[in-house]
Amino acid sequence: MLVFERGWLSSNNVLFTGDAPALLDSGYVTHAPQTLALVRHALDGRPLARLLNTHLHSDHCGGNGALQTAYGCHTAIPAGEAAKVAAWDEEALSFRATGQQCARFTYDALLAPGQMLELGGMAWEVLAAPGHDPHAVLLFCAREGILIAGDALWENGFGVIFPELDGESGFSEARATLDLIGTLDARVVIPGHGRMFTNVAGALGRAYARLDYLSADPKKNAENAVKVLLKFLLLERQRIALSALPALLAAIPVVASAMRQMDIAGLATDPALVERVGSEAAHLTSQGAPLGQVGIATTLAQTRKVGGSSAHAFNAQSHTAADAYIDLATWAASSLLRAKAARIDGADLVDA
Ligand SMILES: [Zn+2]
Repeated sequence: MLVFERGWLSSNNVLFTGDAPALLDSGYVTHAPQTLALVRHALDGRPLARLLNTHLHSDHCGGNGALQTAYGCHTAIPAGEAAKVAAWDEEALSFRATGQQCARFTYDALLAPGQMLELGGMAWEVLAAPGHDPHAVLLFCAREGILIAGDALWENGFGVIFPELDGESGFSEARATLDLIGTLDARVVIPGHGRMFTNVAGALGRAYARLDYLSADPKKNAENAVKVLLKFLLLERQRIALSALPALLAAIPVVASAMRQMDIAGLATDPALVERVGSEAAHLTSQGAPLGQVGIATTLAQTRKVGGSSAHAFNAQSHTAADAYIDLATWAASSLLRAKAARIDGADLVDA
């Protein structure tokens, strides 16, 4: 069994070697050639027999299509996604809603809680892991104490609780999933992103604290979602013109849902934020950066004033809606800069 630790644009992949090699999760579509190369190299000429997904977010199943083309591998997906994949309903699947891409794929079998699978000569139980995604599953090998957690538990946190953004329940499901993980006696966790870890109790403690924080105020979950979606866009594109940010965010339906739970005016006028933006802009300027965080506001405000290209992209939306996206983009970009998850290069926001 091999774990390919990939990063954040692509999920980790688990390759079960043995008689019928199987891959769990396949990364993001733009990394599909790399995923294929990793599998080819590890299998040394033998074919990949099976492909499975913990859940169908674009960063976990984006290589499915390429692997199916290369190997014709038997593919199992979470049962709750069957109809959407069969019809390739991009509205119902998460890709269009999140502004992300995924190559089309098919499935041969369904994963449902309670099933037992044999992978890499080990027995794995399929367990339900709703919260981040309503249909997500975990795989647990009781004999070895290995848990494959997908985005239900990372060493520091878990994936965005997406259902709550649409007013559906997700916090209590995420809590129940953490409770379930706590009962498993897992010795090692292979998360969907980041390194494997053995301090399961520590990770659970951090996850519960984060869930308490997010669920106490749905605004926090919505804000987190917008930041995560912008970071994902940056990972995918590496560089985005600041002036294009508002229209890009406006084109993502999940961002619109998140905005309904946020206080945009409150974000823009938060005196603490304004003060931080000011001081960090001065810091950036002193380092010779051509455009600090005040520059973001200026660039975006110019977009607002002259009704530039991004304003046109708002089409029938009101001027007020366009203003809200400019404020949101200013705040989200500032947040990534503050977290050192992005930097400014000229008039662009760049991945960091
Ligand atoms: Zn996910």
